[in-house]
Amino acid sequence: MFKKILIANRGEIALRIQRACRELGVKAVMVYSEADREAKYIKLADEAVCIGPAASSLSYLNMPAIISAAEVTDSEAIHPGYGFLSENADFAERVEKSGFKFIGPSPESIRTMGDKVSAKQTMIKAGVPCVPGSEGALPDDAAIIKRTAKQVGYPVIIKAAGGGGGRGMRVVHTEAALLHAVQTTKAEAGAAFGNPEVYMEKFLQNPRHIEIQIMADQHKNAVWLGERDCSMQRRHQKVIEEAPAPGIARKLIERIGERCVAAVKKIGYRGAGTFEFLFENGEFYFIEMNTRVQVEHPVTEWITGVDIVRTQIMVAAGERLPFVQRDIQLKGHSIECRINAEDPYKFIPSPGRITTWHTPGGPGVRVDSHIYANYFVPPNYDSMIGKIIVHGDTREQALARMRTALAETVVEGINTNIALHRELMVDAKFMDGGTNIHYLEEWLSKRQR
Ligand code: ADP
Repeated sequence: MFKKILIANRGEIALRIQRACRELGVKAVMVYSEADREAKYIKLADEAVCIGPAASSLSYLNMPAIISAAEVTDSEAIHPGYGFLSENADFAERVEKSGFKFIGPSPESIRTMGDKVSAKQTMIKAGVPCVPGSEGALPDDAAIIKRTAKQVGYPVIIKAAGGGGGRGMRVVHTEAALLHAVQTTKAEAGAAFGNPEVYMEKFLQNPRHIEIQIMADQHKNAVWLGERDCSMQRRHQKVIEEAPAPGIARKLIERIGERCVAAVKKIGYRGAGTFEFLFENGEFYFIEMNTRVQVEHPVTEWITGVDIVRTQIMVAAGERLPFVQRDIQLKGHSIECRINAEDPYKFIPSPGRITTWHTPGGPGVRVDSHIYANYFVPPNYDSMIGKIIVHGDTREQALARMRTALAETVVEGINTNIALHRELMVDAKFMDGGTNIHYLEEWLSKRQR
């Protein structure tokens, strides 16, 4: 096992990784920007190194600064968390070239699966069904673009090969809007992701977002850890996640889970990963793979009993997976609400000083957050400030526990989306389970204040 790990991230996931290090008896080194200097989770670390000013481009995305921090602290491995450099193949490569272990897949796997176009091509070869669309990236030729859209059938969605976080996507309903949409998405993708390549998919009307968590070691062992339903989204960003997915036959999910394991073995993938699918009319369509730990990993941890972050570290250290597929028995139901510092009606980010922070507890309640009273939410980063996760023997019990947990939660000084979660936990359709990816936006458009 490693003696010391550097955590190249911030906020709740940095604390989550630090906790896993503690459990494993590994020393944790935190890096931080000037905006995060005062945060308590930094002070909890064994060592901490400032890597630059508030702007992420100068700190959490600053590869030389992070690698130097690993050097000066004698760290052996770097955990990238999610977001920032976690899916950056060049970073993984530089980490390994500098003599550190990257806690994640190989740079080649990140490169292949991180690019959505090559990921789709790889999955098609591995026999995993994908959303119908263009064969690879769209060419410049207007006539070919139009012909492809006609073949796929409107509405179509133009997606950036390098896109992520719900950005770099545009839905097109008519041929008149097509070329302009392709051009704008290309320009945006080039600016935001450094890769102007875009591709086309059929825009599915009523799908659910179902994803499969996998975990693999360096010794050709791989398992899948059940699925998550992340259909409750706003602007293609997840708001509520749960596991297992309500109302889908186990047989259907098992079949796709096994395909994912086969694909993982085929590409020699190691570490944690997620295969994201859209699920419509009983069929799964692969959309993308995330080659990192995900925000919503706790719901899987709770129903499987597997500590995903701990296992990530263990397999990066060369250990074998401590479980085989038949050990993975799903137990009960888990739901996660993402708590964002934002207006619950208009969704305007709400950074600032938190004056009261009272978190829930009791049976089946977990709070993953780095926040405390008097914490200042910096305006420079993502608005997510924590997650409330619950578990119950049944979905009904999990919902009841989430309602209680949300009722107990008090956050003052800034706005949060807690009021939104409270409303959704008593919404009849959500309580039934199985809402599609458009449900939340439709609900929001009809919402009464
Ligand atoms: P990102 O990497 O930004 O998360 P994804 O490819 O995972 O992008 O897509 C994010 C979300 O966008 C999906 O969960 C879904 O809600 C929506 N989406 C993506 N592709 C399609 C599609 N072909 N049809 C309908 N919705 C889609």
